[in-house]
Amino acid sequence: MKAEIIAVGTELLLGDILNTNARFIARQLAELGITLQYQTVVGDNEQRLSEALDIAFNRADIIITSGGLGPTDDDITKETAAKYFNKEMVLDERSRDRLLTYFKGRNMSPTNMKQVYMPKGAIVLDNDNGTAPGCIITDKGKTIAVLPGPPSELVPMFENGVRSYLEKQQEFTLVSKVLHLSGIGESAAAEQIRELMQKSSNPTIAPYAKTNEMVFRITARGKDKEECQALIKPVADEIYSRLGQFIYGEDDETLVSAVMKRLIEKGLTVASAESCTGGMVASRLIDYPGASAVFMTGFVTYTNESKAKFLGVSEDTLEKYGAVSPQTAEEMCIGAAERSGADIGISTTGIAGPGGGTAEKPVGLVYIGVSVKGKAVTKKLQLSGSRNKIRNAAAAAAIELLRQQIIQEDKNGKSKN
Ligand code: ATP
Repeated sequence: MKAEIIAVGTELLLGDILNTNARFIARQLAELGITLQYQTVVGDNEQRLSEALDIAFNRADIIITSGGLGPTDDDITKETAAKYFNKEMVLDERSRDRLLTYFKGRNMSPTNMKQVYMPKGAIVLDNDNGTAPGCIITDKGKTIAVLPGPPSELVPMFENGVRSYLEKQQEFTLVSKVLHLSGIGESAAAEQIRELMQKSSNPTIAPYAKTNEMVFRITARGKDKEECQALIKPVADEIYSRLGQFIYGEDDETLVSAVMKRLIEKGLTVASAESCTGGMVASRLIDYPGASAVFMTGFVTYTNESKAKFLGVSEDTLEKYGAVSPQTAEEMCIGAAERSGADIGISTTGIAGPGGGTAEKPVGLVYIGVSVKGKAVTKKLQLSGSRNKIRNAAAAAAIELLRQQIIQEDKNGKSKN
């Protein structure tokens, strides 16, 4: 089954907005195992959209459009698709009732009624986040799914209506397992399993780099979910055996949720001491619902004086090694834990730029530290990019170091027993 995406809108064509809908749909199609070979962007023009439909249907079985479902005359996608399939437009009573409910107590422009006329025989896709329903028209082996432009409307409509429709068209099931890795770069991780990726065709293994982490998506194709899961298991096990120390979780897990669950499970409390990240580490940990069970205090100590005053970093250390040094990072994390009575301290100190770097201590140099029950480890990072990128990467690396130290603490505990 081959699909194409046609994004409709003059704003898109001229580059005023980014085509994030195409990106979203493309990734969904890939997950569904549907081949996508072309994407088109066309302005709000009936003749050119009609030509684009002709061209696309010569190559593909399914077209997914986004945009052009609004109430005005230049919103022409649904009408042009209906013409292509020779379907007349008829009032969809359910959509009309939903529209009237949507506008209850508010003024509705009469032109909105245009949105509830649908191509005869089409499957109507409810829009729970806007006024324009979408639709799916199928005829003679060709299908078009017509979706609204705003991503807040398109994404749920795809997930609630289009995805299951497309799944039913496939004779097979696809199941994916996502492994999240932190503390290792994409190429180093891919190198460890290169030959496994090359020889695996079912399941396939696809690496993706994400901000400050990477993922492997393992996707199997089979007659049902169980068959797919059985195909995925040995491959996932093999990846765990090679890269297990970097895998922090599967599927919807995030680094923070993995770390926080572990802390809660172990009953370990944590406090942060941050300089260049200015509270980002604390904020990320506190994002986790239930953080109050383990997160105690966050210190933002930007000056030398505050590092000494609030964390007890010694004047000597600051003078001899400077604020951006492993010694300071160590004293910061130990100080945060001691002063707040937490089991674990986590610290960051570095030069986020753009100014302030020297030959000896360039912009991007960051030291992070984690102390568990008074014993600290520190790590030097040499990061690059904008101030924001450096600060984000430093916060992520500190949380990753925290994860590794909790695992280490676990191992130490086990070897003592
Ligand atoms: P409405 O029902 O709100 O009139 P519509 O279906 O007619 O929506 P458009 O008018 O084409 O959609 O686009 C509305 C807005 O949706 C755009 O201004 C833009 O912000 C966003 N949008 C449209 N197409 C895309 C796209 N391909 N990717 C990301 N955003 C988009």
